[in-house]
Amino acid sequence: ESTFAMLKPDVASDTHTVDEIKQRIAEAGLSIERERVCRLSRRRCGKFYAEHRTRPFYPALLGFMSSGPVVMLELSGESAIGAWRSLIGPTSTETARKEAPRSLRAMYGSDNTRNAAHGSDSPASAAREIRLMFQK
Ligand code: AMP
Repeated sequence: ESTFAMLKPDVASDTHTVDEIKQRIAEAGLSIERERVCRLSRRRCGKFYAEHRTRPFYPALLGFMSSGPVVMLELSGESAIGAWRSLIGPTSTETARKEAPRSLRAMYGSDNTRNAAHGSDSPASAAREIRLMFQK
């Protein structure tokens, strides 16, 4: 199975943290098939997060996601979608710290928006996100 993973601007510029996260990816039995570092425009973030367009946190989310470089990864492995989502932990950093203290969001996130990492939630989202973010 393949999934789309993204390390967000709160962690992507810190090479030490990115290396630690890659180590956790390897320990989870996942392989990095493709990697791309870039800074996303607001327009591209808007396309990526189109489903959240009407949510109150959407403007803050776009501002944050376009504020600095991100690391985009295509991961593969057994049940890669669930494996990566369990590694990143719950969306809310506070919940992650209580329920999954070793998760990436517990260890590196700061709040509901600045939460270190993204993971696709289904095979259809994974296919869409990989296509959208790795297109030329
Ligand atoms: P998701 O599609 O589930 O990854 O959600 C998109 C992203 O929006 C999350 O990873 C957070 O960065 C942000 N987000 C989700 N829910 C909230 C919230 N209640 N308040 C602020 N930001 C949020």
